[in-house]
Amino acid sequence: MSNIEQTLSIIKPDAVERNLIEDIKSIFSKNNLVIKNSKKIHITKEEAAEFYKVHQSKPFYNDLCAYLASGPIVVMILEGVNAITLYREIMGATDPKKAEKNTIRKLFGISIDKNSVHGSDSTENAKKEIEFFFNN
Ligand code: UDP
Ligand code: MG
Repeated sequence: MSNIEQTLSIIKPDAVERNLIEDIKSIFSKNNLVIKNSKKIHITKEEAAEFYKVHQSKPFYNDLCAYLASGPIVVMILEGVNAITLYREIMGATDPKKAEKNTIRKLFGISIDKNSVHGSDSTENAKKEIEFFFNN
């Protein structure tokens, strides 16, 4: 039985700024991840702090929140078979230098902080993160 899941993707400011939206979307479609909902937004630092609050004790938290609020982002709901794990795989490791060949972060990431994309890391967080941006 196939396990259809939804996950939250964010194209971060560094990638939006470099016009990489279509390149990244084409990687989703090649991997059978369907975009169910998408919007380009510019969030405040306070909203970023709420979104990333799981990292509030980390040394990089302040810079991370300021960065996510530094320019437009694209938030998307991706759907597909095992979408959460699949999307984490095609995204690649947090640090682009450590990411596998042909992953989004290897192809486009600049550094560990400007790593082009976000993806939910579990079923529970996918649900929370989708609700955060798309609370219908
Ligand atoms: N991050 C950072 N410095 C670090 C670790 C993480 O700036 O040493 C940023 C990076 O943008 C990362 C985000 O914080 O994507 C969230 O970190 P997490 O460990 O959840 O990585 P991810 O799930 O995005 O791979
Ligand atoms: Mg994470």
